[in-house]
Amino acid sequence: MRRKLILSFALVVLISIVGMVGIARYTSAGTVREFMFPGGMISSTELVKSLEAYYQEHLSWQGVESLINSQRGNNQGKGWGYGAAQGGGMMRGNNGMMGQRILLADENRNILYDSDSQAVRLLSNDEIAQSIPLHHNNKVIGYLLLQGGMGFTQADERQLVTRLGQAAIFAGVLAGTVALVIALILANRLQKPVRDLTLAAQNLANGDLDQSVQVVGKDEIGLLGRTFNQMAGSLRKDEQMRKALTADIAHELRNPLAVQRANLEALLDGVYPLNNENILPILEQNQLLTRLVDDLRTLALVDAGQLSLQKIPVAMREFCEHLVEIMQPQARKKGIRIVFEDNFRETSEDDFILGDPHRLEQILGNVLSNAIRYTPIDGQVKILIQGDLKDIIIQVHDSGEGIPEDALPYLFDRFYRVDKSRSRDQGGTGLGLSIARQLAQAHGGNLIAENSPEGGAIFTLRLPKMDKNSSTIN
Ligand code: ADP
Repeated sequence: MRRKLILSFALVVLISIVGMVGIARYTSAGTVREFMFPGGMISSTELVKSLEAYYQEHLSWQGVESLINSQRGNNQGKGWGYGAAQGGGMMRGNNGMMGQRILLADENRNILYDSDSQAVRLLSNDEIAQSIPLHHNNKVIGYLLLQGGMGFTQADERQLVTRLGQAAIFAGVLAGTVALVIALILANRLQKPVRDLTLAAQNLANGDLDQSVQVVGKDEIGLLGRTFNQMAGSLRKDEQMRKALTADIAHELRNPLAVQRANLEALLDGVYPLNNENILPILEQNQLLTRLVDDLRTLALVDAGQLSLQKIPVAMREFCEHLVEIMQPQARKKGIRIVFEDNFRETSEDDFILGDPHRLEQILGNVLSNAIRYTPIDGQVKILIQGDLKDIIIQVHDSGEGIPEDALPYLFDRFYRVDKSRSRDQGGTGLGLSIARQLAQAHGGNLIAENSPEGGAIFTLRLPKMDKNSSTIN
């Protein structure tokens, strides 16, 4: 990429400089003429040519001074020379020859035209020596004397144009070199973040997730850098979660397996007699393991987006009442009362949702079991149902200790337990709430937890009401 950038820069610089020098060289000759003539510097060669042309046409100098005079001050015409003068531009620039004096004498040295004086006289020998003889048919027909100012021949003009051309080339080469050096620095600076990103992406691909790049600016490269950092960050987080989950699963499996093994070994060694009482703990551990594996399977299905819900219209009042009946024996065993409260504004209010009854039972069953589990003997668990415009809202209040405030944000994390040993002793896997929330979300709803100001925990399940206009069941 660096090479491509530099080559592109170099190409642009080269094209611009060659173009610039070419244009400068092409226009400088014209510009020099345009500047010199209107500005008043006449090429003596051009003047000689024009005067000789005038003589050739008239075969005398008669009228030349009036012609010159008539043209003095006329700097607006185009072109130069006698031919052009007839078009209105002869001697253009004579007027302002940067202080140059023009004298024209005939072949006998009689001054015919003097831009500075009216005196009738002959050109002196000295003046003859300095003057340019004018010729016609190889005969001298007069003398042109340019005094003072800046004489400017065609050779001078060519030299000036050549010098200007050389200066343009020099300036071009200098500007090109400076531009190339700047291009090199720029290419390096532009390429650095891309190089860093490539290196970081390669390391990431090789399994080193501890990668981040320095983000500079808010342009596309900056955005790419930020996105890369986010991606690396979430990969790191996922990896940490995966490792933690694997460790948690191993830990959760080890406990019941160890208990089972100890019990089985004791039975084999004859330490415990083989009877129902000694087999029951093994069965319980087996049930715990089965539940754990089932929960993990459900979570794996949710993660893979493969959890299929057999949705049908479910009347939630009836559903909750039925669930309370199912949970009653478990509650009664602990001396806990379950109260059902129908808080709909009207008895006729629609309470249908579109859901999978098996999964709904799993959600509310888990919340209710927890409520019973964490409510002390003689306590109460209340289940309230109501509706708003969009949702059916089911709340489970218990009269337990509630949830420590610092535990609330993690309550729905996998394997999270406030009191690990207590939960495990009571047969909890630490996956129940995580699964319940995932299932609620799979129904388009949500499950949240908070503490009641009067004490105890409140779990609120929201599920979207069934769209009566929609006949689709998915
Ligand atoms: P577990 O199988 O351990 O109950 P859950 O995911 O169902 O796992 O619950 C996670 C943790 O949330 C529990 O270990 C417990 O500490 C806390 N918890 C859940 N429900 C309640 C509740 N009603 N009152 C107090 N704590 C609760």
